[in-house]
Amino acid sequence: MISYPRFDGTQACLDAPALSARAFAGTFGADPAPAKRICAGCSFLRACREYALATEVYGVWGGTTDADRDQLRAHSASPAPVSISSELDTPVLALHTAEEDVTECRRDVAAS
Ligand code: SF4
Repeated sequence: MISYPRFDGTQACLDAPALSARAFAGTFGADPAPAKRICAGCSFLRACREYALATEVYGVWGGTTDADRDQLRAHSASPAPVSISSELDTPVLALHTAEEDVTECRRDVAAS
């Protein structure tokens, strides 16, 4: 699995102007061109793109839009992106189970 890029505070999108910020955030209908131009001069371009290709992210990452990444994956036969939400399922379910256990313990103590 490709790790999240080790951003060090010098990534070019950090102070992105409003015009490109909407595209970076994946806002529907935002023009990606200004964001892509910013990415072109960023030292994280490659790491950012590789992460975005391997992961389910939205908006402009590494100079690519969602559609660009779909095309790149289709042409390179890359595996489907990993869903970040599915990675969160396990810890969230474990937390809920732990909360239920505590609730049952409290009920047992109250009943005794
Ligand atoms: S490549 Fe683009 S999206 Fe990635 S850190 Fe650089 S400016 Fe931001």
